[in-house]
Amino acid sequence: MPFSRLGLDQPIIDALSAQQYQTPTEIQRDAIPAIIAGNNLIAAAQTGTGKTAAFALPILQQLCQQPSGRKKRFRALVLAPTRELVSQVAASFNRYGANLALKAVAFYGGVDSKPQKQALLNGVDIVVATPGRLMDLYQQRALHFDEVQTLVLDEADKMLDMGFIDKIDDIVSRLPSERQSLLFSATLSKKVRALAKNAVESPVEIRIAAKDASKTNIDQWLITVDKDKKSALLSHLIQTTPWQQALIFIETKHGAAKLVSQLAKRGIEAECLHSGRTQEIRESILAKFKQGKINYLVATGVAARGIDIDDLDRVVNYDLPFPADEYVHRIGRTGRGSATGEAVSLVSKDDFKNLCMIESRLNHLIERRDIEAFAPRKVVPVSILNYVPKAKR
Ligand code: AMP
Repeated sequence: MPFSRLGLDQPIIDALSAQQYQTPTEIQRDAIPAIIAGNNLIAAAQTGTGKTAAFALPILQQLCQQPSGRKKRFRALVLAPTRELVSQVAASFNRYGANLALKAVAFYGGVDSKPQKQALLNGVDIVVATPGRLMDLYQQRALHFDEVQTLVLDEADKMLDMGFIDKIDDIVSRLPSERQSLLFSATLSKKVRALAKNAVESPVEIRIAAKDASKTNIDQWLITVDKDKKSALLSHLIQTTPWQQALIFIETKHGAAKLVSQLAKRGIEAECLHSGRTQEIRESILAKFKQGKINYLVATGVAARGIDIDDLDRVVNYDLPFPADEYVHRIGRTGRGSATGEAVSLVSKDDFKNLCMIESRLNHLIERRDIEAFAPRKVVPVSILNYVPKAKR
């Protein structure tokens, strides 16, 4: 099905052709007509499914039909959890809207707010923001919510994980009640549904299969290893296999910094990306990683949200994540399109519960490869595939 059948005007379709987008993805096919028809929506969809365009395109389509608003006002508001995601979403709006007279801006904390205030005075149509900075600007009367017609909560599950619930509730309570509301989330957990109940009235619901647990172009494998040997094993893998690049996921920012210094002691240069670093540093590290100037990037799951790198060869799970969908989400960063990718996990006895949940979610065991020198003292048993965590029974 071509984009023209979804109710989008030619200037938007031309911008999509310039981006080499030929056909809509599944979520775009389902969400775009529903949003153009004026429905509220909640959608379970992860990064990599094309969800940004799924909400950006119909919003641009709606806004280009009407004149822009007054200064300090805007007509669409997108809330997103991280500075990186906010920047990427605003850039996507501007790319898809390249042939329209509409402007999207990114507002996030940790940078001077003066240019953001000036942009509001010059006139903007779409504000993409982290909840904290948006409220700061609101409290300083740099912006007003009275012309907001559309609200998007992007990566709602992550915003809740990051503790934004009170800020989001506060923002929602200040928006005009006559509005369209859209919520996108990797998972529709109880917490997300509670948020939706308050913010998104009578929504249409769309679920897109998680990006694709059964993808065959990703070589998934794991090595069992004792926890205290993980950094030595990772160094061994980097030094003995032809790895050009790897994005290495780790749970904590303290762990990320420690791993970088452990790798450095073994002569391996790596950088880390976590929420404790300044915006400028994070952006520069990310740009260098994308250009191939940094080969090994150690990132916490939260900081890595919104990183959009299409041709990533390899992800390494230094720790196994919880919940299992996060694993699927991480490995979905590699092997996009027709590219092949590799997802390697270092699994210690402590990771066993998470391993059971992940393998149950995938509905198959992940291939185990052994390296004799790193054989664990604490053996990791084979998972039970129908594992259900106790708390949820
Ligand atoms: P997202 O899920 O929004 O993070 O998008 C994932 C990636 O897919 C981004 O690099 C988009 O530029 C790309 N993308 C989104 N929609 C399409 C499409 N219809 N055709 C080709 N690429 C797309």
